[in-house]
Amino acid sequence: MDIWHISRTNTIFFPQLPPPKGLNEMEYCKIVMIEKGCQFCSEKSHNVRIYWIFRVRSCWDCLMMRVEYIQQGQSIPDFTTGLPFETFRMHGMFGPEYKVFWKEDYRLAEIEFSKVKENYRANWLKEKSLECEFLMKDALKRGKFYQDSKEIHNQAKLNIIKSFCYQLDSSLTSELSIYNNNNSKPIYNPYILSLCPTFNETISLPNHLFAQVTFKSWKDKMIQDYRQIEMKYSIPLRYNQIYQKLLRTRLFFGLQHWIVHCETYLSPPYINNDPRISWCEEFLDKYIIPKILIEAIDCEKKANDAKIALRLIENLIFQKVINLKTAIEFGLGGDDNKLEYEINNNVNQEISKNYNCNNINNINNGLEVFRCKICIENTSHYLLYSYRGVKKHLQKRHSSFHELIEKDLDDYIELDYKITRNYFKVYSDKWFKTGNYPYKLPDEIMQILKNHRMPWWKNLH
Ligand SMILES: [Zn+2]
Ligand SMILES: [Zn+2]
Repeated sequence: MDIWHISRTNTIFFPQLPPPKGLNEMEYCKIVMIEKGCQFCSEKSHNVRIYWIFRVRSCWDCLMMRVEYIQQGQSIPDFTTGLPFETFRMHGMFGPEYKVFWKEDYRLAEIEFSKVKENYRANWLKEKSLECEFLMKDALKRGKFYQDSKEIHNQAKLNIIKSFCYQLDSSLTSELSIYNNNNSKPIYNPYILSLCPTFNETISLPNHLFAQVTFKSWKDKMIQDYRQIEMKYSIPLRYNQIYQKLLRTRLFFGLQHWIVHCETYLSPPYINNDPRISWCEEFLDKYIIPKILIEAIDCEKKANDAKIALRLIENLIFQKVINLKTAIEFGLGGDDNKLEYEINNNVNQEISKNYNCNNINNINNGLEVFRCKICIENTSHYLLYSYRGVKKHLQKRHSSFHELIEKDLDDYIELDYKITRNYFKVYSDKWFKTGNYPYKLPDEIMQILKNHRMPWWKNLH
């Protein structure tokens, strides 16, 4: 029991009042440990309160399951006269008042009372009432004391936090300390502070637990926290510094698109690696801004070269892919069909080797750039299919039209040249953005493309 007494009296928040009558130190300590939540269900919310009258720390729901309540004005049994009670309004602020008893006490009193002989009952009740009066007064006193000491310690906690914040060390000199009263005393930024996990933990930490933390370790953690958050929130400030400068340069509007890809822009050289420190004008003008502009110009040059290279490729493709046969050879019919076609038509393996699809791992269904010639002639039906799709269509729809045999199917298929070109334009655009091209191009062209890599093609080998 001693341990509990010592620990209680050593902890500034724990009530300095002795345990109430009938409770030992341990039971007493356990009740006041509000941070443990409801003693019945462990729920930890604002709902949890200490009900000194019942000597429990409980949430509302658990309390309600353990009490007996009678609406004011209704008849109240005699035996309750000597029972401690609370008064609650249970249906909102303006609902009726209830007299609330601890259920166990209520039952016990009922039994005890029934056993007391009629002529002793008045005495019994008087005795119980005196006892009860004492308990109620004690509970009231404790409730008030608890509330007061909670406020006192809350204030003490806030004062510690405040004093820390106001002298928040002179090493943190940064422009974020905008709430400066005088220059010698940098003050915390409330916004940054409110984002610090340690700060928020401290605010919600029960006072007596906070009292157990040494000030030094807490302060160190706070400073570390504050620095990290301050760093993070300083980065936009630095970008704003760069951006304001860039806006005033002549070249900015032509190069705008490339600036976000420039290395110096992506990771600017912070002073001492600390984004909280602002650059001086001179450093920006002489070093950072020119470097970004040079990199942006380089980006634009590369992009222009790449555009030229791309046009070369497109021309090359469209000189070769001009009809069904060349389209299939190029791989536009999808993987299986190309192989099938090569076997069926004895295509020169040497020529087709260059055009192997480079998406070996993906199943390539080819492009939907093929039409059925029979439909065009007879029904003006211009639907586009993939090579596989159009063959299926011919076999299903027109099997009775001609005595089609597998090998002759190609005679009834047509390539839409214009749409194919459009498809490739889409690929070309994508290539420009991603560096990926769906079809393998001749080696010398691939080399040209690789030489014009865009800075954002990160995963290209
Ligand atoms: Zn509970
Ligand atoms: Zn058809």
